[in-house]
Amino acid sequence: MKILVINAGSSSLKYQFMESEGGEVFAKGLCERIGIDGRLTHKVPGREDVKLDIPMPTHNEAIQAVLDIMVDPEKGVIQSTDEIAAVGHRVLHGGAAFTESCIIDDACIEAIEKCIPLGPLHNPANLMGIRACQKIMPGTPQVAVFDTAFHMTMPPKAYIYAIPYEYYEKDDVRRYGFHGTSHRYVSARAIDMLGNPAHSRVISCHLGNGSSLAAIVDGKVMDTSMGLGPLAGFPMGTRSGDVDATILEYLMGRYNYDIKEMLNILNKKSGVLGISGVSSDFRDLDEAAAQGNERAKLALDKFVYEVKKFIGAYTTVMGGVDAIVFTAGIGENSIDLRRQICEGLEYMGIHMDAEKNNVRGKECDVSAADSKVKIFVIPTNEELMIAMDTASLCGK
Ligand code: ADP
Repeated sequence: MKILVINAGSSSLKYQFMESEGGEVFAKGLCERIGIDGRLTHKVPGREDVKLDIPMPTHNEAIQAVLDIMVDPEKGVIQSTDEIAAVGHRVLHGGAAFTESCIIDDACIEAIEKCIPLGPLHNPANLMGIRACQKIMPGTPQVAVFDTAFHMTMPPKAYIYAIPYEYYEKDDVRRYGFHGTSHRYVSARAIDMLGNPAHSRVISCHLGNGSSLAAIVDGKVMDTSMGLGPLAGFPMGTRSGDVDATILEYLMGRYNYDIKEMLNILNKKSGVLGISGVSSDFRDLDEAAAQGNERAKLALDKFVYEVKKFIGAYTTVMGGVDAIVFTAGIGENSIDLRRQICEGLEYMGIHMDAEKNNVRGKECDVSAADSKVKIFVIPTNEELMIAMDTASLCGK
């Protein structure tokens, strides 16, 4: 089925038009500066990229621009928008209500709206993308695929926070976890690469701008590093990961920050950027560290150290591990960070093959022949998962 996959942000919208079976991508692109002026970048494999300035006061004009370019006789890839069988939307927060993807109807929209307090930055933007598609392509079925859904198999002991229980009961405070579509895709590939054993324990390491780990037993998430929101876990590009809440009180008192300012620091100015003062981009940090910048080196050391701690913890609670998967920008491309993360874990049966690990962005097994635990590099493909879910729900 030919599916249009949409990932709507507050001022941007990514799209990919693809075949759900096999994953062939016909066209993809990005609308930027929605609500400001509007710019469209449209890419078709084998052709030159198209960049156009198109006014986009709202997401409606952005979706219209995407449809217009897709049917353009020169730059397009289809004759008519009827060839779009369905639209799949990435939605950040599904709360506990969504354990899987669902067809978008009034009840689904209402449930996504209810999750706005849990995902205040992303859910409203996701809804704008959904509403724009409903308006502009009213006859085309639409599906919501949630970043949180795959994690809903976590047992209560993993998702409950040790604060008064009433906040869970009354206010839905619990661990939700994110990057679920990515963890689902790469862990399913890993289980396949393990030969589909009856029992499997996988640690999926999604290491990108935002990063999270997931412990996955028999294909079901047992634990994950992000929490109620995506700030939790280990240090990321600009996010702090887990911090002692006392730091908030201390700094807010000393500098008179309000909670918004404090959270802005933890979300945007922390992580490896905060420690290094250099960059949130791991390539810049590698370069700075190689030139002797001690804080860049410390930031990288801290990142590796904290990822290792999660691997150790997840191996313990799963009673062992069969495969460790590296994915997303850093996981797929940073040969050195993968090596550093696995270094010293030989006592756990984790042996990397340095030669095989010399790879970027390609699916492969980088473990040594005698490694008890497989180490896989698996490029993530969230769009394909969204397209597959959309096709399977709309095909029914
Ligand atoms: P997002 O979370 O925005 O989807 P990505 O998964 O694209 O992010 O990951 C972006 C991160 O991947 C950046 O920090 C970038 O530095 C890092 N990255 C990409 N290529 C490399 C590389 N060759 N070596 C180290 N880091 C890399």
